[in-house]
Amino acid sequence: MEKNCVSCGLSFSFRRKFEKNWEEVKYCSKKCRKNKLQNSDKELEDFILDFSRGNCPPRVTQARTISRTYFGIYWKKFHQRVLAAIRRLSHRNILIIHPYKKALKQDIVFEIHKKEV
Ligand SMILES: [Zn+2]
Repeated sequence: MEKNCVSCGLSFSFRRKFEKNWEEVKYCSKKCRKNKLQNSDKELEDFILDFSRGNCPPRVTQARTISRTYFGIYWKKFHQRVLAAIRRLSHRNILIIHPYKKALKQDIVFEIHKKEV
């Protein structure tokens, strides 16, 4: 049994401590439960979607391009937030994350789901 954390977007598996309320479990960890999604996370998701839709014709976008554009010179500090937002959007079937591509140095590469365009 696997679920995706509604905060960081990573998948996590059933553990015994979830036995009683697995149906209701939403977060993978205490840290994620504390870091509930905020308006700023929603705004970041909207930005990612607008940015990807603006890529015409639709093509792949690199996560670090989003981070640099949105957060400017201190983007590295916020890159994990961008990755989490991309994972959340992919679980909602809005984006497709492409498999690892060596040339792009381990960064997440994604494109908007065709139905969304
Ligand atoms: Zn999490």
